[in-house]
Amino acid sequence: MENELQKLKQEAEEALHAISEIAHLEEFRVRFLGRKGLFSTTMRQLGQVAKEDRPRLGQLANSIKKGIEELFHDKKDAVESGCDTTDRDVDLSLPGRALSFGKLHPITQVMEEICAVFEGMGFAVAEGPDVETDHYNFEALNIPKHHPARDMHDTFYVSESILLRTHTSPMQARIMENQEPPLRYIAPGKVYRCDSDITHTPMFHQVEGFLVDRDVSFADLKGVLTSFTRRMFEKDLPLRFRPSFFPFTEPSAEVDIACVICGGTGCRVCKRTGWLEILGSGLIDPEVLKMVGYDPDEYSGFAFGLGVERIAMLKYGIDDIRLYYENDLRFLNQF
Ligand SMILES: [Zn+2]
Repeated sequence: MENELQKLKQEAEEALHAISEIAHLEEFRVRFLGRKGLFSTTMRQLGQVAKEDRPRLGQLANSIKKGIEELFHDKKDAVESGCDTTDRDVDLSLPGRALSFGKLHPITQVMEEICAVFEGMGFAVAEGPDVETDHYNFEALNIPKHHPARDMHDTFYVSESILLRTHTSPMQARIMENQEPPLRYIAPGKVYRCDSDITHTPMFHQVEGFLVDRDVSFADLKGVLTSFTRRMFEKDLPLRFRPSFFPFTEPSAEVDIACVICGGTGCRVCKRTGWLEILGSGLIDPEVLKMVGYDPDEYSGFAFGLGVERIAMLKYGIDDIRLYYENDLRFLNQF
């Protein structure tokens, strides 16, 4: 009988401890403390124990029941008022856990910034597939099969005619095929090349931009790119165009800006030249315009392609491109 009482006490204490909702309080009261509850049932058995033990056990039963009733009322007050602190696992003096906030990756931030600058100049944003056909990636951009320029691209082929796009320029052909000038578009996205070292990763981001209209000249290209670099680097940096070759532009030029670190006087980052290469550009080759059915005598245009990682490295003074993709939070949290 005594064991039974102790067991009942323990059971009641555990059940009470587990309660966190008002609805369970009444269940507990009926089960343990009600007229047909466990305590009443056990106490009725007192009549069957030896006469000399009866007073002692009766007293014990009463004091256990009273204790449980007190605990029950404390618990009831706590649960009903919403500040249940009877749980000993909670230490209210501990400082709270800080919430950690998610952030955009620095490359995403810079890409969005680049897009915003061009959108401010009236360019629309177009996105295309990462898995592209040989036709849009090369042929439609005046790079036929066996053209030596294909060697520069280190292409990942899926099959003979399907590949991972090596630039976002395929969007140029895709858009021009379906629309008539005037056109002003930028195409941001991931591109893939079989290449990896401190300035190259097999996947990187590019923003391709192009404009087609009547009487578009190199001066328009220079104007747009000058506005872009001023807004992007928040400095009035001089631009330099160096003659270059791309199969889809004629004439073509690589564009340098005065070094963002030293302003043109020469430092380690610009290899003492005072200039940093930021993008490739040119006037769209008349052959490319002809392929989509435009008359090159009526329309002309310019195109440019810039590497987002490169812009982000220059903007934030980062010298190893791989840092962007190692997922080290100490690095990523600085942006
Ligand atoms: Zn410099």
